[in-house]
Amino acid sequence: MDCLFCKIIAGKIPSAKVYENDYVYAFRDIQPQAPVHVLIVPKEHISSIDEVTPANSDIVRHVAEAIPEVAKALGLENGYRVITNVGEDGCQSVRHLHFHLLGGAKLPERMA
Ligand code: AMP
Repeated sequence: MDCLFCKIIAGKIPSAKVYENDYVYAFRDIQPQAPVHVLIVPKEHISSIDEVTPANSDIVRHVAEAIPEVAKALGLENGYRVITNVGEDGCQSVRHLHFHLLGGAKLPERMA
């Protein structure tokens, strides 16, 4: 499968890793939009949150459990924002489920 994030997870494309466990990989976004901007992705390929079903929702559970660990490791004790874009209208550019973790400063109140 020709998936950028699958290649990053497999180490075929370099990334600035900040966290990894058996199910989840997290790395710095190449074009940061906040002082801290990390992408948290499941190792198992799923194209977006729109593909989640009762049969595969464990994938998301593992990512959700990793988020506070990554935030703590990055010193985001004052808060942060988590975003996942979906499809064309959501401006999703990489079709492998990922959660943007943004923080390190007071973020804009508006999200769109
Ligand atoms: P989205 O637009 O929600 O699909 O987010 C995709 C994100 O992946 C964007 O914020 C990009 O800056 C980021 N990105 C694209 N290629 C890379 C890469 N090779 N390493 C790290 N982040 C990347």
